[in-house]
Amino acid sequence: MRIDIATLFPEICEAYLSESIIGRARAKGIFEVNCHNIRDYTLDKHRRVDDTPYSEQKGMLMQAEPIYRCFKAVTEGIKPHVIYVSPQGKPFDQQKAKELSKLDSIFVLCGHYEGVDNRIIEEIVDEEISIGDFVLTGGELPALCLVDAVVRMLDGVLSSPDNYKDESHFSGLLEYPQYTRPEVWHNKRVPEILLSGHHANIDKWRHEQSLIATYEKRPDLIDFENLSDIDRKFLNNYIKVKCEI
Ligand code: SAM
Repeated sequence: MRIDIATLFPEICEAYLSESIIGRARAKGIFEVNCHNIRDYTLDKHRRVDDTPYSEQKGMLMQAEPIYRCFKAVTEGIKPHVIYVSPQGKPFDQQKAKELSKLDSIFVLCGHYEGVDNRIIEEIVDEEISIGDFVLTGGELPALCLVDAVVRMLDGVLSSPDNYKDESHFSGLLEYPQYTRPEVWHNKRVPEILLSGHHANIDKWRHEQSLIATYEKRPDLIDFENLSDIDRKFLNNYIKVKCEI
């Protein structure tokens, strides 16, 4: 997979994408990511890429032309899926990350200031994606969230696909609680079942704990209609017992 990020702050993106799991996977060549400075594509002698919005006195807007020139230069010979990270976009989620991880090439445009001239969206963008209903100063953090979530699902980035398949949101539920050494910490013991070595029972416990965690923390994610009979019975019983306490 190849990812191109167009930004006014490539060094911010570079710093994050060179570290830890993502940085190692990138160094191994599991995916390619290039961070491009839109300023390198302006024709303005002062390297300006922004101007005031028409009929507004406040803020600055990124101009269409430098972004377009960057896009054209970077995508010569490829046809990437073009994403503009924007608070006006569709909310990003695990399903979208999974979908994007199947593509060969993605181009991510990061806005700044008041955003971008709308004509560049009309001209090159396939979809707008938001990382939540709040407004940040720039698209670099949203782009990094998106790239991180997408590439960690590529083969070879994590040691095993099980690492992400068990995780929150992959199957629609949140992950079960996890514990590491020591066995007792602040008088709290690791649940006995996890020390039993009985894998089938541990899997069953984990699944039930996932149902409980989701019900307690994100009940909006639980679709009772579509739960299996066993899961619905388990959860109804859990709720009944909780109400009796
Ligand atoms: N004026 C724009 C509006 O009201 O929709 C907001 C512009 S914001 C200050 C500057 C840039 O940050 C945007 O162009 C976008 O790239 C990025 N951004 C801010 N919040 C975001 C979010 N929740 N999700 C994705 N990108 C975001």
